[in-house]
Amino acid sequence: MVSGPSGAGKSSVVAGLAERLPFHFSVSMTTRAARPGEIDGEDYWFVSPEQFGEARAAGELLEWAEYSGHLYGTPRSEVAGRLAAGEDILLDIELRGARQVKAAYPEAVFIFIAPPSLEVLEARLRGRGDTDLEQVARRLAVARDQMAEAEAWFDHIVVNDDLERAIAEVAGILTAPTPPGCPS
Ligand code: 5GP
Repeated sequence: MVSGPSGAGKSSVVAGLAERLPFHFSVSMTTRAARPGEIDGEDYWFVSPEQFGEARAAGELLEWAEYSGHLYGTPRSEVAGRLAAGEDILLDIELRGARQVKAAYPEAVFIFIAPPSLEVLEARLRGRGDTDLEQVARRLAVARDQMAEAEAWFDHIVVNDDLERAIAEVAGILTAPTPPGCPS
């Protein structure tokens, strides 16, 4: 389970991991609009608020949360059956969702991808072009809270100061043998 503030480079870390390790990337459902280059069914399932509400009411979501004015959720279909089949699954979700996953799967590995600093995060968010100033301020405030919470209960915090280094560190965590007596 990978989490971290928007703009910390999680997507790039996840993309780099996909080239090195076999896992299924859990495709979330979201009500936000696709960014240029994003593909429906690959990056997210882009749905209307009504469709999201129906999936939620039908109990189809393992977890969900509102983030920056949009709804995000993990379809159960992305997780349960695949885990039973022995596949490794990677979730990229925010912290309230991560807490719900921790309750359902306490043995999961929780990795937080942190930006080198809040100043670097702000520059990355501004440079991305799709986020207005109010959203940047909102996301920075959320990022500050998230970093404090992640320090409290995540298994690993990986600082994305250099993309290749961060990918290698996360890959190392995910492939490390589990010490006897520890949950995998
Ligand atoms: P973005 O809009 O930048 O792609 O994602 C915004 C935030 O939503 C990120 O922190 C991302 O990890 C989180 N997110 C993406 N999918 C899910 C999901 O299914 N559930 C939850 N709880 N958060 C998600």
